[in-house]
Amino acid sequence: MTSLYQHGTLAMLMGKQMQGTITAAELLKHGDTGIGTLTGLNGEVIILEGQVYQAQSDGQVNHITDLETLLPFASVHFYKPTQALPFDAVDFTTLSDKLQAAQLRNIFSSVNFHADFSRMHVRIAPKQVPPFPSLLEVATNQPEFEMANVTGTVMGYYAPEIFNGPTAAGWHLHFLSDDKTFAGHILDFSASHVTGTLQIFDEFVQHLPVQDAGFRAMALDLEGLHSGITASEGGKK
Ligand SMILES: [Zn+2]
Repeated sequence: MTSLYQHGTLAMLMGKQMQGTITAAELLKHGDTGIGTLTGLNGEVIILEGQVYQAQSDGQVNHITDLETLLPFASVHFYKPTQALPFDAVDFTTLSDKLQAAQLRNIFSSVNFHADFSRMHVRIAPKQVPPFPSLLEVATNQPEFEMANVTGTVMGYYAPEIFNGPTAAGWHLHFLSDDKTFAGHILDFSASHVTGTLQIFDEFVQHLPVQDAGFRAMALDLEGLHSGITASEGGKK
C-alpha cells in the first residue's frame, strides 16, 4: 500500500497561518498527484502527473513551472491505484454510495477520474495578504464558477472524521478541465463516461512547518475549529 503525505494542516489555516512553508519542488518529492493552495490561500492547486496547476480567483488557470513557489497546505501521493472505479456515471452526492464508502469511512483514500461533466461547480479561494485572516473569514467571500458540458479530471481525497482538523473530513476534491482553462475546489458535479481509480492509503504522513515562527506561536481556538472547518471546507461525507 501507499502513503499520503500532507504538509501543514487545515487547522493552521483557521489559525491565520497562510504563509507558504514548502516549495513545490519539495512537495513533488513526496508525490506526483495531489491538491493544495498557495501562499495567502491564493487559489486552488491540483497536481496531476507531476504537473502543478493553480486556479486563481478570477477563474484563470496557471501552470506553475516555478518550483520554488510556496504552499502553506497540500496533500500529495504517488499515483498507484488500488482499483478501477466501479461506475460509469456519478455525482457528488452519490459518490460515497457508489464507492460503498462504509468501507472507506475510517481510512484515507483518493479518487482520480476523467469524465464528461454535464455540470461542474467550483469555488476558488481569493488571495489574502498579511496580516492573514482566518480561513473562516475567507470562506464567506469566495468566487464560484459553474460550467456545463466540460471534460476533465477530478482528483481528491477522503479523510476520516477523526482527522477533521488536520484536514477536512469527508471528500475534498479539485477539478481541472482537459483544456486546462477551468479548475477549482469542487462544490458539486455530475459526471458520465467516468474512467478512473480509487487508491487507499495505509499511512498518513503529517509534515509540519517547524521552521515557521508564526506556526510555532499560533494559538488555536479548538472550540471553533470543527464548526469553522465545516463552514469553510464542508467536505462531503
Ligand atoms: Zn480545496
